[in-house]
Amino acid sequence: DTPDIRRYQERLAAEGIDVVRVIYPDLIGTDRARDVLTDHLPTACEQGLAFCRAVFHTSPQGDVVPVAGGLDAGLPDVTVRPDLSTLAALPWEPGVAVCLGEVSDPATGAPAAESPRDLLRAVLARCTEQGLHPVVGPELEYFLLEPAPGTPTGWRRAPETTGAVYTAGLRADPGNHLLRTLRHLRDLGIGVITGNHEFDGGQYEINLGHSDALDAADRSFRFKAAVKELARKEGNLATFMAKPFGDAGGSGFHLHLSCQAPDEEGAHNAFDDPSGTYGLSTTARHAIAGILAHAPALAALANPTVNSYKRFGPDTLAPWLIDWGLDNRSAMLRIPPERGSGARVELRLGDASANPYLLIAGTLAAALLGLQAGEEPPAPLEGYGYDTARSAVLPMNLPAALDALEADTALTEVLGKYFTTSFLAYKRNEVERFQRHVTDWEFTEYAYHL
Ligand code: GLU
Ligand code: MG
Ligand code: MG
Repeated sequence: DTPDIRRYQERLAAEGIDVVRVIYPDLIGTDRARDVLTDHLPTACEQGLAFCRAVFHTSPQGDVVPVAGGLDAGLPDVTVRPDLSTLAALPWEPGVAVCLGEVSDPATGAPAAESPRDLLRAVLARCTEQGLHPVVGPELEYFLLEPAPGTPTGWRRAPETTGAVYTAGLRADPGNHLLRTLRHLRDLGIGVITGNHEFDGGQYEINLGHSDALDAADRSFRFKAAVKELARKEGNLATFMAKPFGDAGGSGFHLHLSCQAPDEEGAHNAFDDPSGTYGLSTTARHAIAGILAHAPALAALANPTVNSYKRFGPDTLAPWLIDWGLDNRSAMLRIPPERGSGARVELRLGDASANPYLLIAGTLAAALLGLQAGEEPPAPLEGYGYDTARSAVLPMNLPAALDALEADTALTEVLGKYFTTSFLAYKRNEVERFQRHVTDWEFTEYAYHL
């Protein structure tokens, strides 16, 4: 109410902040933002800000155009209300604070049907019904690119330092990009804990501490927005696309997942059981079985772009097969060695381009279906994976994953019909645009010799 908003305005004024950047995730996880002068905050909170509901894509000419293929063909509004409890001063932009927006339908006032944040809330309500409170720890990889005028994309991996390999230390980051980013993200309240140089030149990983699932999704979303914004401010490009280069590894979005369940002493980790098979509880084993069973459909959310499927493959540390293993990085689902409060699963399926809310909601929905089915997972993978004789292959392109999502009616029932229809429409439009596009590869392959 108004006195409440006035208190926020006073606090912001005292901190020298006169602009609030309201951000929310659209269907594909892009951060949509509007800068609001603090004088206008009461109106913004009471009436909401109007945003165009459409998802956007970049045309071959670089123009941003709305996708008209979804349920928003008339490009209507959504209403976005600043959630002032999430305000945080932007460490690199004096005078500006950022906060999340709550998305609603202007006609009904109810949460917008395809709002990914509300979809995650709905899945979490189902977890609560089972007495489970999921805990998520996200890990995100990305490439930092610097301008390369005259090259086809205009960007190159930065820095192309010899010896810039996995966890190589500061010699891989002479410009101190990682140090600066870590400190800014800490000050923004993202809950980052560690960062390292990844396998390829200019590729980094930052780990976020674990917390309840909605908070972990919010922090992942804010993390991606912040890293992109910071890089652009320095004239660079931070990209979370899954596989930006054919000759380098992809960027993963690994999720560590466990569940708290209430007990007499407060709560315990419901994935741990010292007397259970592999030291895991039946809850954990059923969740694993559910994630494996629904993996082809889950791929559509965890690997949502045409480019995502170029990250998959043998010897990539990204998965390729639908399998699980005990402390085995070649498996899609890795069970780290810790037990007790640290017992958890690490889903290595997702790539960095995934919308955090959809990746987490889809994973939890698959785990819930596993609990409902009550089945044991197959025997865990032994040794190095990537052997097709042992496990089924993931969908190897976006159309196959979208078909798998559509066919998985148990999963889409949890995710909701409106969301599924809308998501499939957007993504099939993307596939169509890609299939019509003539690539450089085709020209080189066919133009001269046929
Ligand atoms: N870059 C790999 C991926 O795409 C993961 C590498 C790692 O294990 O850190 O998932
Ligand atoms: Mg990594
Ligand atoms: Mg990992």
